[in-house]
Amino acid sequence: MKTILLVDDSRAVRLATRRMLGQSNCSILEAEDGSEALTVLKSHPEIDAILLDWNMPIMDGITFLKTVRSDGHLPQPKIVMCTTEGEFSRIMDALQSGANEYIMKPYTQEIMLEKLQEVGVL
Ligand SMILES: [Mg+2]
Repeated sequence: MKTILLVDDSRAVRLATRRMLGQSNCSILEAEDGSEALTVLKSHPEIDAILLDWNMPIMDGITFLKTVRSDGHLPQPKIVMCTTEGEFSRIMDALQSGANEYIMKPYTQEIMLEKLQEVGVL
């Protein structure tokens, strides 16, 4: 079974995404900012993929991404950045910093499952 970490400061988004993944037979973990996500990643090295929101308090998505990718001691799961249209111009920075894919918010179940297939997690 694959393990996916949902990182988003919106509880509604985490809940909706969890429902989208309901049929996928994945184990799902959640964090509400990048700092909490680091803690979860350290204690769950089995995580296969992270769906990562960009704008979050405390530690945002791009800071989390760069922190993970520059630390050889951390597990290195696939990371899909979830970005709104206004942030799209920054997506090249995310890809160059080690994001595997990106997805535009709001996303549908179909698109989200497709992205997870593209990174080899589903
Ligand atoms: Mg957010």
